[in-house]
Amino acid sequence: MTDRVLVLNAGSSSLKYRLFDGTDPVTHGLVERIGEPGGDAADHAAALRAVLSGLDLSGLAAVGHRVVHGGAEFTAPTVVDDAVCAAVRRLIPLAPLHNPANLAGIEVARELLPDVPQVAVFDTAFHATMPEAVASYAIDVEVARRWRIRRYGFHGTSHAYVSRRTALLLGRPPAEINVISLHLGNGASACAVRGGRSVATSMGMSPLPGLVMGTRSGDIDPAVVFHLHRVGGLSVDEIDDLLNHEGGLRGLTGENDMRAILRRRKAGDRAAALAFDVYVTRVKEYVGGYLALLGRLNAISFTAGVGENSPAVRAAALDGLTGLGIAVDPDRNARGESVISPPHSPVTVCVVHTDEELEIAEQARQALR
Ligand code: ADP
Repeated sequence: MTDRVLVLNAGSSSLKYRLFDGTDPVTHGLVERIGEPGGDAADHAAALRAVLSGLDLSGLAAVGHRVVHGGAEFTAPTVVDDAVCAAVRRLIPLAPLHNPANLAGIEVARELLPDVPQVAVFDTAFHATMPEAVASYAIDVEVARRWRIRRYGFHGTSHAYVSRRTALLLGRPPAEINVISLHLGNGASACAVRGGRSVATSMGMSPLPGLVMGTRSGDIDPAVVFHLHRVGGLSVDEIDDLLNHEGGLRGLTGENDMRAILRRRKAGDRAAALAFDVYVTRVKEYVGGYLALLGRLNAISFTAGVGENSPAVRAAALDGLTGLGIAVDPDRNARGESVISPPHSPVTVCVVHTDEELEIAEQARQALR
């Protein structure tokens, strides 16, 4: 056995892993409630030790780590050394919910597998190709520079993978096509991909803006924050919680799972119907905006939990766009075929199963080449 890659995705209280032999998944698993009473492990080190003890790691070529925020520094998968760890640590203020856990995963893996190269694969890296006009916020340039405030974008491994799969479905090289990739999972983002490179994405400095998500509000007037603080008396932490954890579908309906919302909507629940409409309207706004940015569009791809599984969301998000060359065939959509637009549509609409772990494994190998 050679060319095995272990992919680790360390969250604040969880550790997801998947072992690949070439492109074949060998095994995968999840350690949960790390550090919590009654949880699977006392800390990340214990969790990884338990994972490693159950795996056949002969021929392990690399460990690929998902890292959420790479800032402006990391524009490609990067072999980890002390300087990389220090840089990921410096980026913690930009991703306080994610980078500490990602870093813990890296440090523990370096300790337990000292002879295996560790590769950091950043969610932000794919978006490094965004033009400055898209990445810049219109605020005081000195303030922006000092605090590293700009659009970074996330879900990069998914958008990279999905846009390449889309090119395969179209039978054309990625460099020749323009794609809008719609990652609609618990987190959600849209990405405009021109010739294989990200030119715009809906998340920003953080994963909060853009589309409506399970518990995140997506786009909101920033003055809402001042208002809630000054007039509503909420603390900054309370507002953070409201927008990041109690917003989105949960804010609108009390639940963050699209399946529950679809059921309630069918049963005539008005809050669920509104949540659905807000959700698909936001997707449509981004599709229209990115169509204009790209100028020419070959494909739209739906991916992740909602995008791969909900014909209702796909149909509603693209409803009424035939004048723009965008249409969904109801039967193909209901069957969840990989191409759901009618034959000979100017824009091919696709359903693509995303595989972020496989993409991380591939990128880890690339980084070692
Ligand atoms: P994550 O962003 O956590 O990786 P996923 O991409 O797995 O999430 O998406 C999870 C979400 O997908 C769930 O919260 C649920 O709302 C949605 N989902 C899963 N299956 C379906 C389905 N059959 N129909 C509609 N939504 C679904």
